[in-house]
Amino acid sequence: MDYQTILEKVSKAVAPLTGEGKVADYIPALANVNPNKYAVCIDSIDGNLYAVGDADERFSLQSITKVFSLAMCLSIKGEELWTRVGKEPSGTAFNSLVQLEVEGMPRNPFINAGAIVLADVLLTSFPDPEARFLSFVRELCGSDTVDYNLEVAHSERETGYLNAAIVNLLKYHKKIERDVEEVLAFYFKMCSIEMNCKELARAFLAFANHCRFDYAGVSLTLSQVKRINSVMQTCGFYDEAGEFSYLVGLPGKSGVGGGIAALYPRRYSVAVWSPRLNSKGNSVMGMKTLELLTTETMESIF
Ligand code: GLN
Repeated sequence: MDYQTILEKVSKAVAPLTGEGKVADYIPALANVNPNKYAVCIDSIDGNLYAVGDADERFSLQSITKVFSLAMCLSIKGEELWTRVGKEPSGTAFNSLVQLEVEGMPRNPFINAGAIVLADVLLTSFPDPEARFLSFVRELCGSDTVDYNLEVAHSERETGYLNAAIVNLLKYHKKIERDVEEVLAFYFKMCSIEMNCKELARAFLAFANHCRFDYAGVSLTLSQVKRINSVMQTCGFYDEAGEFSYLVGLPGKSGVGGGIAALYPRRYSVAVWSPRLNSKGNSVMGMKTLELLTTETMESIF
């Protein structure tokens, strides 16, 4: 398949959408990002890389990092992890409190409440969780300069009132062990990791590649990797998971930095970045790019 030509065609086709949507400005440090940035990159299992646009420029991964923390937590806890967090789609916004109040346990690891529980699992599993998480992520993406952005992490803490409410509700329901401030700080730090589209595609290739998953001591069975894919498929886009599945037909994960990573099992991973978001917190041009990609290639999991 000539993915380079397809990516070029798709990026031209989505260009008229430039200007639609709004950059996530509830995290003050993200409000300064150039909203017109755009990149898409495919990394294929057979070793080819295809890229268009600003594919070497790093951006804030935000909720995309929840896939990495799920992988790490699953490798530590195995099936027992699902006693701490569910695996059902929430059908609600990523930062919603409503179900948590009624049900007492986060619906899935990809909404904020679920990822905050994952942060607690990592904090209680390692003496040096920040370093462990970073070395895992660096090995996954094949770059040892990928890092946390402390300015973004601190800036989110300044205005992170909803997440503070979530962590307190979790503590009330005895769903986290560590101190609420410590958990919140680590959660924001994980969200602040930055990568470019080439690095992000490489990181997700590990979830497409039905081979050995063993990175920086984080090892998963093939079955666990497939299950992470299934959670991405059903929960990766919050209350737009059905729409993404309908339009794109691949497992994936979005973040409010405007990135989306997705994968076509056994074939390729794809990363796209465009900072303007729709009302559900997903990148407008990113969603459209992936929709057109799977329409053009006629390749999806269905
Ligand atoms: N750090 C962001 C938050 O907690 C992540 C949200 C996202 O990317 N959907 O609100």
